[in-house]
Amino acid sequence: MARSRDAHICARCAAHSGTCCRMQPGNEELCFPLSRSEWQRIVEHCNDKGGFASQPNTKPFLQCMKRLFPADEKRLEAIFPPHGEHLRLASDNEGRCLFLSAAGCTLPRETRPWYCRLFPFWFMPNGMLTMFTPDECLVYLESRSVRDAMQELGVTENELRLMFGRLRLAWGLDPEHDEDGNRYPLCDHTR
Ligand code: SF4
Repeated sequence: MARSRDAHICARCAAHSGTCCRMQPGNEELCFPLSRSEWQRIVEHCNDKGGFASQPNTKPFLQCMKRLFPADEKRLEAIFPPHGEHLRLASDNEGRCLFLSAAGCTLPRETRPWYCRLFPFWFMPNGMLTMFTPDECLVYLESRSVRDAMQELGVTENELRLMFGRLRLAWGLDPEHDEDGNRYPLCDHTR
């Protein structure tokens, strides 16, 4: 990984606002899912099975997933069938992830779920790198562009593409192709 322009930006964000590691209480069902492999990585690191919750596959959750992966609707319906459940990170009464401290995430970066490691970046079905724009995210507020945000966090596009492929694989999706046959190149070898 390249050197971050401000290695403490997520800790500053944690002190300044709720951070991206906090959700609105009542919106827990919209939290991203946690795959078995991500769960196992965290459990092995913490030597503890706390910090997780079982979440029914509700309609709003599935709609949220379809917005994240608009070209994978059928596969998502199979992975998250109605009446089924999935795992997510548990949160406290104020919506804070149980792994969050005042100084930021207590998990080492390589142990965190793929979604946490990718955030606030994402890839569109055409493979274009984009960024979520949460109101309180300091990376978003202090960056002038997606490229600028990447420098702020010290990540390259190739690293983000690899993480995105791993997230897709962990969540049960084809890491490189969506249902429409669009390809998400895992690495851009032209750079
Ligand atoms: S695991 Fe860490 S990075 Fe992910 S939501 Fe929880 S505190 Fe934030």
